[in-house]
Amino acid sequence: MVDGVTPCSKCHNLSEDILCSICNTPSRDESVICVVEDIRDLLAIESLGNFKGLYHVLGGVISPMEGIGPSDIYLQSLIDRVDSIECEEGKRVEVIFALPATMEGETTSFYLFKKLKDKNIIVTSLARGVAVGESLQYADEATLSRSLENRTIYEA
Ligand SMILES: [Zn+2]
Repeated sequence: MVDGVTPCSKCHNLSEDILCSICNTPSRDESVICVVEDIRDLLAIESLGNFKGLYHVLGGVISPMEGIGPSDIYLQSLIDRVDSIECEEGKRVEVIFALPATMEGETTSFYLFKKLKDKNIIVTSLARGVAVGESLQYADEATLSRSLENRTIYEA
């Protein structure tokens, strides 16, 4: 890791400050949180230029095969973060699952959904433009953009 670069205290993106440049932009909507596996996926979505919410970088996905459990990635900090957001009247927090369409990605989405489903929030997931097993960062921009645009309510 480069000197002076630490994870953003809010979204765990790489940052030179306590908050990264995305979390630090006042025009972005902090009530919309796009959950990604790693920073490369954040960059892939950010490069589309049309997402105005914030991110949450998990730093991995749940993988029993590799011994990665819920406490090994930034899951709890997402749940705490959702609880701390104060929405405007009549608005609800939206959490978007933008995790890979792999077994591990699905497991992670399902685990998170169980933790979030009793909160008064909206949980969505990327439309299935991204093929099964494919990482977000390898999807072409048009496909990724479409899956974000056409995201659907997550159903477990
Ligand atoms: Zn951040």
